[in-house]
Amino acid sequence: MCLFCRIAHREAKARIVYEDPDVVAFHDIHPQAPTHVLVIPRKHVASIDAAQDDDEAVLGKLLLRAGSIARELGLQRGGYRIVINTGEDGGQSVDHLHAHLLGGRRMRWPPG
Ligand code: 5GP
Ligand code: ZN
Repeated sequence: MCLFCRIAHREAKARIVYEDPDVVAFHDIHPQAPTHVLVIPRKHVASIDAAQDDDEAVLGKLLLRAGSIARELGLQRGGYRIVINTGEDGGQSVDHLHAHLLGGRRMRWPPG
């Protein structure tokens, strides 16, 4: 099982902020903003590139839950950023699809 599958199964420790049958969210171990939460599907999908047509509902829920978690954390007041790194040039280091939810500071553009 990959690291994020183990977190989803509570076999590896994480500070979980939200979970339901489809999605788990937990604080990133190396936060890049005052709030930095990773939102993952329970289903192991390696990346956006590996996602299939039948993952449509999984991907939809991932983004909808990221939005509702952002509201629960109060991030919608100042705004926030959702990032999905994909592949080597995209900066993906864990091969289980995850959306970074970042907030609590002013984001820069373009990203590094
Ligand atoms: P990526 O670089 O793949 O877009 O993002 C992976 C993220 O997972 C990184 O921000 C990294 O800090 C985080 N991460 C890596 N290992 C762990 C871990 O064991 N626990 C938690 N909570 N986050 C992790
Ligand atoms: Zn996995």
